[in-house]
Amino acid sequence: MSLKLDGKKLSLEIEEKLNNYIAKNKKMAKRAPGLAVIRVGEDPASGVYVKNKEKACSRVGIKSFIFHLKENVDQKEIEQLINELNFNDDIDGMLLQLPIPKKIDEQRLISYINPSKDVDGLNEKNIGKLVKNEPGMRSCTPAGIINLLRSQKITVEGKKIVVIGRSLLVGKPLSLMLLNLNGTVTMTHSKTQYLDKVCKEADILIAAAGKPNLVDSSYVKEGAVVIDVGIHRLKSSDNNKTNLCGDVLLEDVIPKVSAYTPVPGGVGPMTVTMLLVNTIYSWQKNFGLSSTLNDLLP
Ligand code: NAD
Repeated sequence: MSLKLDGKKLSLEIEEKLNNYIAKNKKMAKRAPGLAVIRVGEDPASGVYVKNKEKACSRVGIKSFIFHLKENVDQKEIEQLINELNFNDDIDGMLLQLPIPKKIDEQRLISYINPSKDVDGLNEKNIGKLVKNEPGMRSCTPAGIINLLRSQKITVEGKKIVVIGRSLLVGKPLSLMLLNLNGTVTMTHSKTQYLDKVCKEADILIAAAGKPNLVDSSYVKEGAVVIDVGIHRLKSSDNNKTNLCGDVLLEDVIPKVSAYTPVPGGVGPMTVTMLLVNTIYSWQKNFGLSSTLNDLLP
């Protein structure tokens, strides 16, 4: 019988902890933690993600500041906004909701974010700290995956781990975090040859390719742990309903594995929760609080 790694349940448990932590320390801090989210243009999925982040913030007592900028805003205006937020004492964390319109230089904007407010962990200073295995803001999706594994005492040290995908958002930071935890990590990508054979070696297989149902049972070793990062909305053929699926063909893979993440309800909720953790971590550092959140940081 394989174990479902229930990200939804774990995220609610962590949220309760965060809620209590804020309630306990807010009086001393004299203000709630603040998270600024910058959204550019009308990408509908971004709209949903921003709303989810706003709701999650309000559940734990973080004040959110949403800046929804027009599609035709220019680079300089966003840079100016980021600079203002860098110096705004009510803001502990800030993120740029991706994707943003192509004419805007996304990496340049991320470079402008004060590293201590960079709650997505994408600024080069935080990536550098990750490479050096020094404490710093860590990307939320990879950090959520580490916590999900930890919650079920699935150890990384000494394990063979294959990560499918090498994006700056997921694959690369995740591979580094797992390496820092002494996993033996293979990072694969769209040019990897014999991907199925490489994946079949893995004790822990993590799919973050953005390709629906790429991983079937032929990619998976008996007893492996499979983590599905992908999230896709597919139209069903008979009617206009949309179904959510990941990069893993779950019904084929579940009988073979020891543990797996569902889609939805696996990695997704943990991503949002780690954003809350990073924001609160930045807030409490500003007030010199001794943290009880350290166990949540990879
Ligand atoms: P991306 O498109 O930036 O990167 C995809 C990576 O996968 C690339 O490195 C590419 O080389 C590799 N790849 C593509 N096709 C491949 C193939 N056939 N074989 C092997 N490698 C292949 O995507 P991303 O931002 O890293 O996101 C990946 C997926 O995860 C998407 O479905 C995205 O929606 C999802 N995602 C989910 C969460 C969450 O919280 N659940 C967060 C971030 C991303």
